[in-house]
Amino acid sequence: MPGVELAATRCAICEAKGGATTVYEANFRPEDLDAARFSARRPPDGIHYRIVRCDTCGLLRSDPIAEVAGLDALYTESEFTYGAETANLKRTYGRYLRALEQYQSGQGALLEIGCGNGFFLEQALAQGYSPLAGVEPSRRAVEAAAESVRENIKVGVFQQGLFEPRSFDVVCLFQVMDHLADPVAVLDEVGALLRPGGLLLTIQHNADAVSARLLGERSPIVDIEHTYLYAPATLSRLCEKAGFAALNAGASWNRYSLRYLFRLAPFTASLKRGVSGLLHATGMEKLPLWVPLGNFFLIAQKGSQG
Ligand SMILES: [Zn+2]
Repeated sequence: MPGVELAATRCAICEAKGGATTVYEANFRPEDLDAARFSARRPPDGIHYRIVRCDTCGLLRSDPIAEVAGLDALYTESEFTYGAETANLKRTYGRYLRALEQYQSGQGALLEIGCGNGFFLEQALAQGYSPLAGVEPSRRAVEAAAESVRENIKVGVFQQGLFEPRSFDVVCLFQVMDHLADPVAVLDEVGALLRPGGLLLTIQHNADAVSARLLGERSPIVDIEHTYLYAPATLSRLCEKAGFAALNAGASWNRYSLRYLFRLAPFTASLKRGVSGLLHATGMEKLPLWVPLGNFFLIAQKGSQG
């Protein structure tokens, strides 16, 4: 089996390939990642490329990484795994969508890039946004979308020319930025699709979060699927480079069930089994909690002249 070709990456902010310091070495050999295994539904958990930090701007990225064509294939076949947490994600993202109302009057046209099964589009509809559009590479996820939003979702990878320029008031990307091979190209296109004064809302892992710092290389954010790892300062700079004004950024609070949080916790399997049984028996497993679990939000605005 031929190995997957790895290619050097550049800092999305500085556009330089060099001038970066290794933070974590890759924890696999490229020859172990044959094309068949890499294009399977999901690579094994816990493997990651070499992670470097740009010496100039501090942005973290994977370097080198597999060629882009391989990445696209990976997401097209990926399984949709939000499952039981969908209701909580709706509440989480809906709360940040509501925060846009202080910057924009009225709910207009909204696009979500990487919309999965469209659960957030349903939420946006409930909050008065219309018309709605979504883009999602996973065919299976789109097939699982509710009828009220399925027709609004284009199956495929987000790229130039899918929509009319200046046709949206809000564009959202939730847990998508980390996965983009060319985030500047995506932000440029988002800028072209927004009307002047339109808003960008993103939520993603926070490389500066306490959890990420404590866990280091063992943090789930250090993952082969993540091409870049952002913090509020680096993503704000990237957005400004693409012609946006960063309006607000900070730790985002997610709503989770106790059951889900417990599953993420670093406990032994037998302890997990015992406590899971207890949570289930007492009906506490569905108890919702708002916690800052290592994500941050960013709200940015397209310039009025653009
Ligand atoms: Zn840089």
